[in-house]
Amino acid sequence: MIQDFTYLKPGTVKEALTLLTDHVDECKIVCGGQSLLIPMRQGLLVTEYLMDIKGLDELSYIKYDAKEGLKLGATTTHRAIEQSDVIKKHYPVLALMEERLASIQTRNWGTIGGNLAHADSAGDPAPVLMTLGAKVKLASAKGERIIPLDEFYTDLFESAMEHDEMIIEIQVPPPAAKMGAAYQKFNLLQNDMGVVGVAAMMTADANGTCKDARIVLGNAGVTPIRAKNAEQVLIGKKISDQLFVEAGEAAAGDADPVGDIHASEDFRRHLIKVLTKRMAKQAWEQASK
Ligand SMILES: Cc1cc2nc3c(=O)[nH]c(=O)nc-3n(C[C@H](O)[C@H](O)[C@H](O)COP(=O)(O)OP(=O)(O)OC[C@H]3O[C@@H](n4cnc5c(N)ncnc54)[C@H](O)[C@@H]3O)c2cc1C
Repeated sequence: MIQDFTYLKPGTVKEALTLLTDHVDECKIVCGGQSLLIPMRQGLLVTEYLMDIKGLDELSYIKYDAKEGLKLGATTTHRAIEQSDVIKKHYPVLALMEERLASIQTRNWGTIGGNLAHADSAGDPAPVLMTLGAKVKLASAKGERIIPLDEFYTDLFESAMEHDEMIIEIQVPPPAAKMGAAYQKFNLLQNDMGVVGVAAMMTADANGTCKDARIVLGNAGVTPIRAKNAEQVLIGKKISDQLFVEAGEAAAGDADPVGDIHASEDFRRHLIKVLTKRMAKQAWEQASK
């Protein structure tokens, strides 16, 4: 049973930020409600004020510019990202990730800002966006700040966002030349949250050497994890199948998974090893075309 709350419906971002400041520590933001309403219904989350930002159309946009890259407004739905032609063209991995995120009904209503703010380490968008070098733009009545998504997650369901702040935009730099990116989650039910997920991004130089690599693990710890040892296995090397195997092994060591009803710690490490090998290989095949 959801406890009573006062419903706030700002008409503009400015009004939303003022309301957040006025009711700081007593106000929860709701956007699509796909994640928030579950703990509210379970009685695990009680709030005095619920501020609904779903109607803030000024935050619902997908913009692309060859110099600046991609900008996603926080209230943009998963479905809009999945169906965007500009995203399919320049960041196909993002559209493919969205295709496997939940059901169409959830994607139609759930938003990218809500997904990242929820800070569930099993969420699909964060690992992919982290490999692409994304940043989040946060705003409060005091002003705005931009932080790399790499630095956004601090603990289980915790982020660097202050209580008077909200996510207003996600920024992704233009794709590098000769870049490939891939993402796969292992799930028991199709389009459910992943038991683990692995995103990989690689770039190639003119000689066929790996110039850069980023590997991010989902649901392999309390936050999405950059598998930095796995990245180092690949960066600056002439790529071979053996290196993908070694990167997988390093990623299993970079992970910090726990066992739960879905999978043991060992099985999660095994999945990370296999998925890292496959995702790095897929990313490399695209990058070196
Ligand atoms: C059946 C089901 C299956 C799902 N499967 C998947 C899946 O496979 N992969 C996956 O990644 N996710 C999955 N999800 C989660 C869901 O898609 C996302 O968490 C959802 O998109 C969150 O967005 P929302 O707009 O509904 O956020 P809400 O539920 O409204 O909010 C989530 C949290 O973010 C905060 N918040 C929302 N917007 C902002 C903002 N702009 N600034 C600051 N804080 C904000 C809220 O206060 C709350 O704490 C699933 C959900 C359901 C119900």
